[in-house]
Amino acid sequence: MKQAQTSTSKSLRSWLGHLSENDEISIIDKKVSLDYEIAAITKKLDGKKAAYFSNVEDYGIPVVAGTATTRKQFADALDTTEKQLNDKFLNALDHPMPCHTIESSEAPVHEVVIEGEDVDLLKMFPIPVHHEKDSGNYISAGLSIAKDPKTGSQNVSIHRLQISGKNRLGALILPRHLYNFYKNAEEQGEPLEIAIVIGVDPITLLASQAIAPLGQDEMEIAGALKGEAVPVVKCKTIDVYVPANAEIVLEGKILPHVREPEGPFGEFPKYYGPRSDKEVIEITTITHRRTPIYQTIVPATYEHLLLGGIPREASLLRVLRNTVPTVTNVHLTFGGTCRYHIIVSMKKRNEGEAKNVIFAAFAAHYDVKHVVVVDDEVDIFNLEEVEWAIATRFQAEKDLVVVHGALGSKLDPSTDNGISSKLGFDCTVPLASEPMEYEQIKIPGMDGINLDEYLFNDPTLKGVNKEHFEE
Ligand code: MN
Repeated sequence: MKQAQTSTSKSLRSWLGHLSENDEISIIDKKVSLDYEIAAITKKLDGKKAAYFSNVEDYGIPVVAGTATTRKQFADALDTTEKQLNDKFLNALDHPMPCHTIESSEAPVHEVVIEGEDVDLLKMFPIPVHHEKDSGNYISAGLSIAKDPKTGSQNVSIHRLQISGKNRLGALILPRHLYNFYKNAEEQGEPLEIAIVIGVDPITLLASQAIAPLGQDEMEIAGALKGEAVPVVKCKTIDVYVPANAEIVLEGKILPHVREPEGPFGEFPKYYGPRSDKEVIEITTITHRRTPIYQTIVPATYEHLLLGGIPREASLLRVLRNTVPTVTNVHLTFGGTCRYHIIVSMKKRNEGEAKNVIFAAFAAHYDVKHVVVVDDEVDIFNLEEVEWAIATRFQAEKDLVVVHGALGSKLDPSTDNGISSKLGFDCTVPLASEPMEYEQIKIPGMDGINLDEYLFNDPTLKGVNKEHFEE
């Protein structure tokens, strides 16, 4: 396996340097407000360039957003192609690389330590307000790192974090791994120690979203993706290890038996997640680099969707291959919020296999709502080709699969509190069809044509000009 380009993914800074070299970052010197303006500019640049805000009103700390907003950028960072991205991610899941612990004195993120009364999140850091009806300023790109009190293994995840006070955060913690650790601690009446890490490269963010089993440390997946052990350092006041090259670390604890209002917050499906009583994190100590960069993710941008989508695609690909080994690739589309719509390509060997793939996709993750299965010759990353397959290779009478009353996403407002219908389109060609029936038209020799050999920028050189076309 080829190793990733470790130099570019070593830290947020090395990644920003890489973006700068490739003209993939906009430096915004004009004074910007925390309220909506950072989010608005980031959104306008989404899919084109990252945004670095050097002059944030009332703050001396810059903000960066949109550090990777295309599949190509993630593929480049992993030294692979967009089509190989899912297999590359699976390989890292299977071959995690243990982290490498370094001394506090050598950790850039420990250059400055702030404790006690001096901790004041909103005074210290430019934490933006993103959407109109958000309840306030939110940390949206913080890696939550905690240790399982039972096994000692660490977990990395991202949660939306509302600033509820100078050292207080409201957190949405869905029932996955961190929740499991927290409940174990809470049942003993104990808080759960937690570190919030802000300012890392996009590969570390991507690894945090891996659908890995409980007990697998996502930071080791980051190491595998980078091809180099992630240097970590023990926090100053809690027994948690964090990436030493990060920009900012908040050290604290999730309080037992405390719930306070959190939300609403604009989420990935482009709707607001509701306000309700949620878990509370108290921050006791903050460490950061001497001149920290604050990182944010604007919800529902391509960056946000891809961070969730790429690791999901990898896991779905594995599950579908367990059902039908000739599944070649999967694509969670932007329009489907990188969650609800999955397009699958396969080499069908037996009639009916595409329908099994549809059922496997429904079962693989409750978020999957609409499934399209096509033959391998269709490029699943080209949505025009996929639509063409639906238009010309699908008959509702025999190719449609519908299931009602299954569990879907609670964030999909068209469901009945998560109870959802599921729909599958089998767009594979019947194996018994006549060879010419589904043969795509083809122009011989077209692939070998290099247009530059035929086109001239200055038509007058060839004696063809506007006068030729006059009547
Ligand atoms: Mn986990």
